Amino acid sequence: MKLETLQELYLEELRDVYDAEQQILKALPKMAKAATNESLQAALEEHLDVTESQVERLDQIFEELGVKPKGGKCEAMKGLIEEAKELLEEEDSDSEVLDAALIMAAQKVEHYEIASYGCLRTYAELLGHEEQAESLQEILDEERDADENLTDLAEGCINVEAAGEEDEDEEEDSGPKNRVKNEEDEKPVEE
Ligand code: FE
Ligand code: FE
Ligand code: ZN
Ligand code: FE
Repeated sequence: MKLETLQELYLEELRDVYDAEQQILKALPKMAKAATNESLQAALEEHLDVTESQVERLDQIFEELGVKPKGGKCEAMKGLIEEAKELLEEEDSDSEVLDAALIMAAQKVEHYEIASYGCLRTYAELLGHEEQAESLQEILDEERDADENLTDLAEGCINVEAAGEEDEDEEEDSGPKNRVKNEEDEKPVEE
């Protein structure tokens, strides 16, 4: 489609992010269900509530603009969610490593949203849609909070545990062909 005005770009990208949020609404419950860490699970569930209220605020913006919210297709979000699904489909994953993978997938989603809402907020300001700019800033802040919360969760426990687990599991994971076992491997190291 041709974009001749900033207003057209604003509408196009609002519809894109609206579709992205719809996709996130469907994906978040599955991601929360797959999480083992309770804090991570709670964070993903909480962000589902936040996302629902973001969609309501976007609906309001479309209403003010007098246009339909439908019609966008966010291929980027489709790809990010597809990647997350692939991680979840792996069988026999270590639960801490899977949690780390969920955090990474969720942060990629948040970063995409942060970029989108940052631009949309600025366009709204430039176009003189003051209330919409405020609303979009509010959503942007929520996405940033979600991202920071995920960073805290990752730093607090999950990635460290996952890294530690990897060493312990090494024996089981390596096949006899690619690794020569020696006696030291069998004995726990005493300090
Ligand atoms: Fe969102
Ligand atoms: Fe998009
Ligand atoms: Zn798109
Ligand atoms: Fe978000």
